[in-house]
This record gives sequence, structure tokens and C-alpha cells, in this order.
Amino acid sequence: MERRVYIETYGCQMNEHDTERILRLLEASHYLETKDAQEADFILINTCSVREKPEHKVYSALGRYKWLKEKRGAIIGVAGCVAQQEGDKLLDRVPYLDMVIGTHAIPMLPQLLKKIEFSGQRVCETGFDPEGNYLKTILPPKPLDKVKSYVTIMQGCDHFCSFCIVPYVRGREQSRSSREIIEEVRHLAEMGIKEICLLGQNVNGYGKGLEEEISFSELLERINQIEGIERIRFTTSHPKDFSEKLIQAFSKLPKLCEHIHLPFQSGSDKILKAMHRGYTKESYLKKIDHLKEVCPSIALTADVIVGFPGEEEKDFEETLDLLRKVQYDDLFSFKYSPRKGTQAVQFMDKVEEKVKQERLSTLQEIQKEVTLRKNQELEGRVKEVLVEGRSRQSAQDVAGRTRSNKIVNFEGNLELVGQLVPVRITKAYPHSLRGEIIPTHCRLENTPAYQQAGIGE
Ligand code: SAM
Ligand code: SF4
Repeated sequence: MERRVYIETYGCQMNEHDTERILRLLEASHYLETKDAQEADFILINTCSVREKPEHKVYSALGRYKWLKEKRGAIIGVAGCVAQQEGDKLLDRVPYLDMVIGTHAIPMLPQLLKKIEFSGQRVCETGFDPEGNYLKTILPPKPLDKVKSYVTIMQGCDHFCSFCIVPYVRGREQSRSSREIIEEVRHLAEMGIKEICLLGQNVNGYGKGLEEEISFSELLERINQIEGIERIRFTTSHPKDFSEKLIQAFSKLPKLCEHIHLPFQSGSDKILKAMHRGYTKESYLKKIDHLKEVCPSIALTADVIVGFPGEEEKDFEETLDLLRKVQYDDLFSFKYSPRKGTQAVQFMDKVEEKVKQERLSTLQEIQKEVTLRKNQELEGRVKEVLVEGRSRQSAQDVAGRTRSNKIVNFEGNLELVGQLVPVRITKAYPHSLRGEIIPTHCRLENTPAYQQAGIGE
């Protein structure tokens, strides 16, 4: 009998991808996705505990769905980082919760669901899997209607930055074999996927612990050869392990997109040391300068934390200085959020909430201008856009992304989805670009319209 599953996802791309994997797994057990919680037989909240705010959302979400348990007997579960962290305590705290499933237990989901369906027993599964079986491929059983897909290449983290919960809730670094990754990418290419994003908390650590000798840049080289895949991206890279070989890959591998997300967290050496990041402001800037030499068109984004314990005004000034020097295309900025079990919770010199908020606003104001200016630099240029689907802004428009990962909206029909098309950028906005497609008859490389702006620059 067919059943319905509704999944609410919080947090990062890793969680979004886990949700996709869960949906594929459940499809084989006759659970189909619904976007309407009210008709679901199974409601799963896939959680994030990297910061306090997403963690709190779990409890309000559970409160929202309590009546569906009472009225329809829906099975209610919590997955992801909060599940991993809280385990049985969640079952104690929320009497109508049926399932707690940790980050390594995803493959067990169908059998746990069966157990609940037949016995009504509540279950909690939060063990770590040292064999890495939880990373195994879960292939989509039917063609996807999408043009891009995530592919997990490794999980966990060995870095233990003093502010971060990830190593505790995702476990130690574990890489998937290159054979399995290549197989999955080939399969996705056969299904029409054009762009893949390789996922890991620290992709530069790829290969550690595998029997084969392979580095992340070698993996990229192999994926670059797979027919049908037009674009490769990855996230996230740690600046400490950002190698020369990886920098060179940006000029060597034609499918590797000119965009990198390289979190710096702080511009102050004192704070970077307290965070255990393993690099200095100068060494970070050196790598960025070198990357810009090797690949002048590279788009840069990063994560930064303000208000880490001990951050004084002069430390914050160093962060602003780094920001001004690099000129990021976009920035993900966070107020430091103390996480139970991490080292930084015990640090003295906490920064007042009001000061954190002021620093966050100052930083975001500066970045807003830079982002807009960077987007404006593209006005008049022709860019290759991979069309992803209908634009959110208008039914007459489609939307896609440049190789530098900027969203472009332009007039066009859905037949363009999945195609790489040249688009002239006509207007820049803070979060997107507006453009017009270069008509087919103008696309020959010797026509002025195509050459003028230098596509792909
Ligand atoms: N592995 C990536 C790296 O090392 O750059 C980051 C992964 S983490 C899930 C994503 C981002 O969340 C971090 O880069 C950091 O800026 C932010 N973050 C992590 N812990 C945080 C905390 N306790 N408070 C505020 N932001 C935090
Ligand atoms: Fe967290 Fe640091 Fe690992 Fe990134 S590298 S996941 S910030 S511990």
C-alpha cells in the first residue's frame, strides 16, 4: 500500500542531500513524498544543530505536528544532528515522538519504520558506523527532473574547530571509494544531470583512510572526464588544507566552475588561534591572491563568525580588513552561537549579544555594497547559464546559474531547462541578475554579439 512522507529540512546542503537520499530510500518502501504535512503518514524533521536557532526550530516543528499524530496516527521522527546529539533524551522529552535517527543510521530507516508500523514501539538509533556503510550510494530509482545534483564524497570532520559541533554529530572523516563516486556520477549523467556538487565538510581531506591512494584533486580530474557532466562544483574546503594542486585544478579542468567557498571565520590571528583553525590571516590571503592569479575570473564566497569569545574591537577590525582585501562575491555571516560539548563554550570573555549584533550589521552592510558592485561588473557581459527551471519571479521567465554561481533570470520557455545558453546580463540586483538570451542565429562564435563580451570570461 502506498504511503506518504513529509520531510522538513533545516540547515546546510549536507542535510538537503540527506533528505534526498531518504526520499529515494523510502520510495523503495512505497513511501512517496508529499509537500502537504496534513496528508502524511510519516513526518520526518531533518535537523541541524550547528547554531542555536535551527536547533530550536525542531521543538516548534514537533509542536506543530502533534495534532497529526493524535488525529491521523502519523508516525513522527527526528533525523540529523539534533537527533544524533540528543538521542533518547528527545524521546523522553517529546512523548508523541516515534523515531530518533542519527546521522549514520539513514540506511536503517525503512526497517525502523516497519518496526514502528507493526509493533508501535518507539525507536532510537544513533550509533556511529565505523565502516562508512551509511555513505553508500542510494541511486534514484527513476529519472530526476532536475539538472543538478549533490554527490557526497566524504562525511564527518577531524578538525575540531573550537566552536563547531560537526565532529561530534557527524563523526570522524570517512571517504567513499572513488569507484563508487564515479559510478554514481555516471548514473546521474545518464539521467540527464549536467552539474554536480561534491559534498563534504572538508573535501580537501578526501582520500584519507581509503585503500587506494587518491587526493581530492585527482578525484576531480577523474570526474572531469565523465561524459554528459558539464559542470563540477564542491563544498566545503578548509583553507588550511587548500592545496597547490587544487588551486591549479581551477585552470586545468574545464568543467570545474570558477567559484570557491572558502570560509575564513575571522581575520584576527588571535581569534583564529582560539578557534583552532590552523592558518593565519596572512596565509589565508596569500592563498586567495595565488588563486586569483591562477584563475582571474574566480568568484569567492566564505563563512565568517562575529562575536567569538575574546573578540575585541581591534580583532573585528581585522575581519573587516580581510573582507575589504578579498572582495567576496557573497558572504555567509553568523553571530557566534555557543554549542554544548564544544571547547569554546568554556572560554571566558564572552561578547555581549548587543555587540555581536552591531558587528554583524556593520559587516553585512559592507558586504552588501561589494556584492552589488560585483554583480554590476557583469552588466553588458555575456555569460554561460545552465537553465534550471521556471523563475521564481515571473511565469514568463526561466532561471539558471552562471559558472560563478550567480542566479540569472531571463525570458524563455521550459524547453531550455538543462541547456547551457549564452545570456547577456542587462541588470544587476543584490541577489540576482537579469539577462536576455543571445538568439541562436547570433551564437556562432564569429558573430560580433557572441565575441564582443567574451563568453565564459
Ligand atoms: N566545514 C566548513 C568549514 O570548516 O569551513 C564549515 C561547516 S559549518 C557546518 C558551516 C558554518 O557554520 C561554518 O563555516 C561557521 O561559519 C558556521 N558555524 C559553525 N559553528 C558555529 C557556531 N557555533 N556559531 C556560529 N556559527 C557557526
Ligand atoms: Fe566544523 Fe571546523 Fe570541521 Fe568545518 S572544519 S566542520 S568548522 S570542525
